[in-house]
Amino acid sequence: MARRTTLVITAAAVRALTTTPLHDVTPLIRSAPLSTKLGCDVFFKMDCAQPPGSFKLRGIGATVSEAVANGADGVVSSSGGNAGLATAHAARTLGIACTVVLPTTTPESVRRTLERDYGAKVVVEGGVWDEANERAKQLAQESHRPLVHPFEGPTTWTGHATVVAEVDAQLGALGLAMDAIVCCVGGGGLLAGVLEGVGDRDDCVVVAAETVGADSFAKSFAARKPVTIPITSIAKSLGAGTPSPTVLKNALASNRVHPHVVSDAAAVRACVAFADERRVLVEPACGAALACLYGEPPSVLEDRRCVVVEVCGGAVVGVEQMNAWVGELL
Ligand SMILES: *Cc1c(COP(=O)(O)O)cnc(C)c1O
Repeated sequence: MARRTTLVITAAAVRALTTTPLHDVTPLIRSAPLSTKLGCDVFFKMDCAQPPGSFKLRGIGATVSEAVANGADGVVSSSGGNAGLATAHAARTLGIACTVVLPTTTPESVRRTLERDYGAKVVVEGGVWDEANERAKQLAQESHRPLVHPFEGPTTWTGHATVVAEVDAQLGALGLAMDAIVCCVGGGGLLAGVLEGVGDRDDCVVVAAETVGADSFAKSFAARKPVTIPITSIAKSLGAGTPSPTVLKNALASNRVHPHVVSDAAAVRACVAFADERRVLVEPACGAALACLYGEPPSVLEDRRCVVVEVCGGAVVGVEQMNAWVGELL
């Protein structure tokens, strides 16, 4: 009997794969203690439950799907963080190649996951992200494969916007509608998606959380133009030295964005409080958003009825690392 040794992927199969989102619908869980504390309904949108560990699969999954629909047989990433993990996960799911260029500072656990679990090709280049990114650009050009950006691009933003559509449906089933959403902001891809998802509805504020030393968005927002800062925070997933100029412009024009900056200690304290409440570990980047509820809430949340916290997650953390931060900072 003849055995088929190669799997022939038909155009119809590619279409089906590329029109089915790669991300999961995640739970929306009401927080009883935070609802009591704020005197309104507070919900966690549990994007930490996405397969690669963060919300990034929403937008990056859409971008990798689009690349496949346009004929790409592979993609390149220069992120040693959750964007690289999401890119490799998406490429694996769609059966295309993925090369991730990592700076030498990337934790060994990330490298292992990329290579062993997601089958990505890992190239280590440079001590900082800029050097890795230059090499990634070069590899992308040579191989005629797209470079998947960690936070820029309309397809990535529209993919991230699916989180708001999901929340709307989930709250709608309970007869509720959110009038505030809290998310963190690094380069601004998530914020762009949240703003796109919120659209022009009345009365919904967006709190954009960061940590001191990764607060390039808050500084840029205050200056009304992109500002570059050195990154000193432990919240590395928020560590874009300069936010996306387009996202900054959209945020300023929306009249609904309220930047909020917390200390690294407050972010870590919020991670611990969240782990105690939900038995789930997230990165300090996500802790910045959680700190808006577990810590002193920003005044804009005072008279809200239904607050949603985007629990963006993050896979670049473990119990040992969290314990070390607790020892250093709390
Ligand atoms: C990427 C990431 C962020 C920042 O997202 P941007 O789209 O760059 O603003 C925050 N938290 C986690 C866990 C991330 O992976």
